[in-house]
Amino acid sequence: MKTKAAGKVLRGVPMSRGIAIGKPFFFICSEDAVPEQPIAKDQIELEIERYRKALSQSQRDVKRLQLQLKEENALEAAAILETHLQIMQDPLLTTMIESEIRKTCKNAESVFHTCHLKYQKKFHAIRDPFFRERDKDLEDISRRIMGHLRESTRISLADIPKNSIVFARELSASDAAAAKPGTVIAFVTESGGVNSHAAIVARAKGIPYIAKAKLDQVEHLADSTVIVDARTGEIHLNPSPKLVANFQNLQKQLKSHFQTLEKTSTLEAETFDGYKMRLSANIETVTELDLLHQYRANGVGLFRSEYIFLSKQNFPSEDEQFEIYKRVVQRMEGLPIVIRTFDVGGDKLALSQDYSPDVNPYLGMRAIRFLLQEQNIFRTQLRAILRASVYGEVRIMFPMISGLGELQEAKHLVREIENELKASGIELKKQVPVGCMIEVPAAAIIADILARESDFLSIGTNDLVQYTLAVDRSHQAASSTFTPMHPGVIRLIKHVVAMANRYGKPVTVCGEIAADPRFTPLLMGLGVHELSVASRHLPFVKHAIRNTSIISAIQLAEKVMEASNANEIQEMLNTEYKRTVPEDFFHNIA
Ligand code: PEP
Ligand code: MG
Repeated sequence: MKTKAAGKVLRGVPMSRGIAIGKPFFFICSEDAVPEQPIAKDQIELEIERYRKALSQSQRDVKRLQLQLKEENALEAAAILETHLQIMQDPLLTTMIESEIRKTCKNAESVFHTCHLKYQKKFHAIRDPFFRERDKDLEDISRRIMGHLRESTRISLADIPKNSIVFARELSASDAAAAKPGTVIAFVTESGGVNSHAAIVARAKGIPYIAKAKLDQVEHLADSTVIVDARTGEIHLNPSPKLVANFQNLQKQLKSHFQTLEKTSTLEAETFDGYKMRLSANIETVTELDLLHQYRANGVGLFRSEYIFLSKQNFPSEDEQFEIYKRVVQRMEGLPIVIRTFDVGGDKLALSQDYSPDVNPYLGMRAIRFLLQEQNIFRTQLRAILRASVYGEVRIMFPMISGLGELQEAKHLVREIENELKASGIELKKQVPVGCMIEVPAAAIIADILARESDFLSIGTNDLVQYTLAVDRSHQAASSTFTPMHPGVIRLIKHVVAMANRYGKPVTVCGEIAADPRFTPLLMGLGVHELSVASRHLPFVKHAIRNTSIISAIQLAEKVMEASNANEIQEMLNTEYKRTVPEDFFHNIA
């Protein structure tokens, strides 16, 4: 990744809109990437200690291997390892690296890597078989030491310099969750999809994000400025002062658009002909509740509970979970909250336990399947939620239900634990309402059966699109293939809503389309009464609701149901949206 050219522009696909102007930060993200990080003066000795530890662990590895080879009588191979041990005691790998860390104040990985490259170059220049062999030895040793250094670092995006534009090959949901807005002001990655959980988290935090950018030309931009325009998908490296000034002006304009929107954000989510919608929030952390109250949302329609441990090594204990749920429920101030039980698997697997990853994680042990198999984990979570339920209006929702059996088994566990808690003297005011997510086409088709067994339904369109169209939500960056505008998806949504309404069960849409104002009138016209969106998007959706009428929403839905392909539907939704919002809104912040 190397370039210093001024005015260079990279292109990618916007995942989370917005503009950022800041300094690049290269995030460790693949085996061959070596991040360069400044180390504070008072941390230098610790960094050297970390390097010494990696070196002595590598020496121990080699000695163990050498012993094994001797036992197997492979004496020649054991002698090669003797050379490795000698090289590891060479000042090149001991005192020199240490003094270089002290001198440069950089992290051990980057100092070691630079030093290795320097010697590699020297060895290559000497065309002698002896040095060719030493080169191979050094390569081998280097891989071993780097491996141990990497084990001891887990850079968190919570601990990087302010105003950083994070460049990474890929981004996990837990990495994105650790990022602090203001510290991380934008993401640029090589891979990633618009419905990946990393993208969802970036949008929820209001961090601009561009994926599918080619990063192999970018390196050592350390002190330069970068502009990320995540409306167009352009990344400007080393921009001219004039361009920086233009983008600073644009940022001001966007801020003022948003302030205009915010003015109506505390009003009712009501159409101008008086039709009231429920507008709730999707949250991953308790801090998002501030915006929920600021924008007067009706409650939390989806608490993605798995985010409480995604960046940790283990599932939290019952008491730890209870404290978190209790805090969240109390912060609701009486408003209802739907807590979704852990949706692990897919692109959210960060646990150290021995849960073997599936070949295709989206089609394997994910969500409710995992919970029903690992019942201790499930029971612990349910006990913690039910104990916290006495502090407010809690509902429990199961992710990725694909059939009645799973729903019944999960529901049975809830009722069993309720009885256990009551028997142990814990006062539960009433049975906690239980609902299921509709994210699998089979579940959508049997929505009548699931509606009868549930207190409410919630349509998770991110997964419903993925499973209906057989397209991976993490790797299909805004391509025409991953589209909720496919008539197959719209028909499934219509069917689920009709079945829920037939059995008098509330139905919410909580996938990303609920946050896209272009979909608002369509969903209303299909009979959806509640939308749940990231808190940050509440003003956009409220604005869309307040700028339409239920009559025109129904008419739009009827027209859309006649369409035969996604392009036609997209055209209809765009036309309707443009009709209701000012032109610059549509281009800049929608
Ligand atoms: C969905 O699939 O639409 C959904 C809301 O759940 P998640 O994005 O957490 O998978
Ligand atoms: Mg889902």
